[in-house]
Amino acid sequence: MKDLDMPPGAISVLDRGFIALMDHMGDDTTIVNAARVSFGKRVEKMSERDERLIRYLLKNRHTSPFEHVQFQFHVKCPLFVRSQWHRHRTWSYNEISSRYTEVKEEFYVPTMFRRQSPSNKQASVEEPADEVCFNVYRNEKTGTEEAYIESCKLAVKQYRELLKAGVARELARAVLPQAMYTQFYATVDLHNLLHFVELRIHPHAQWEIQQYARAILKLIKPIVPVTVKIWSEIKGVEVK
Ligand SMILES: Cc1cc2nc3c(=O)[nH]c(=O)nc-3n(C[C@H](O)[C@H](O)[C@H](O)COP(=O)(O)OP(=O)(O)OC[C@H]3O[C@@H](n4cnc5c(N)ncnc54)[C@H](O)[C@@H]3O)c2cc1C
Repeated sequence: MKDLDMPPGAISVLDRGFIALMDHMGDDTTIVNAARVSFGKRVEKMSERDERLIRYLLKNRHTSPFEHVQFQFHVKCPLFVRSQWHRHRTWSYNEISSRYTEVKEEFYVPTMFRRQSPSNKQASVEEPADEVCFNVYRNEKTGTEEAYIESCKLAVKQYRELLKAGVARELARAVLPQAMYTQFYATVDLHNLLHFVELRIHPHAQWEIQQYARAILKLIKPIVPVTVKIWSEIKGVEVK
């Protein structure tokens, strides 16, 4: 048995996170065949007619054929991204337990401390917080980033001290920050996956979860290229 590592083929996301496709079932033909079973027909290979069918299904929200394609991902992300992700109830999740295991000293450090949006209460803007904003967080001698890192490190140190003193892992973890990384497996069908990507790639979603949504499109594109191409056209999303 090994510790959880970054699996081969995983895409790095944020400073220490990743997402990997662990398993999948079905492809574009699975969708077409699920739709065509109504007429007692099936295909082995995609044709232009099948592409038109996928476009019709996506445009007209005939969603059930997309539920026959399934994906399992291994995700490593900060706790606050995990909280947003796990609001999506149509996925199945299993997560590393900080009751069973000691939490590793791995926390997310943003490359830019984005400014609070003046117009959208839940959002940030793509520019660094200025000096006045910075002073709220800033240790004048060390600078904001270090103050952030110091506070995360202090929390981890106190966590370890609580463990040393015999406090249970399930309670000691309460001092840890939202920036700590966690890992989970997540399984979902293609219909609900595209719903997740649409909501979480949107500029209203937090920038950090947007990065995972973009990586998902990259991972599934080789498996369902026609669906991803047509879905991206319909939704106006660029798959980089
Ligand atoms: C930008 C953004 C900001 C958000 N802000 C907040 C916030 O401030 N606070 C907060 O609590 N949440 C917030 N959310 C979470 C949001 O409310 C949803 O819980 C989350 O996006 C999951 O969406 P979903 O329910 O459509 O997905 P899923 O849970 O995957 O469900 C998919 C679909 O299945 C159906 N469904 C699933 N479960 C049920 C059910 N029990 N009853 C009826 N239909 C169901 C619905 O049609 C649903 O759209 C935010 C989400 C986004 C994208």
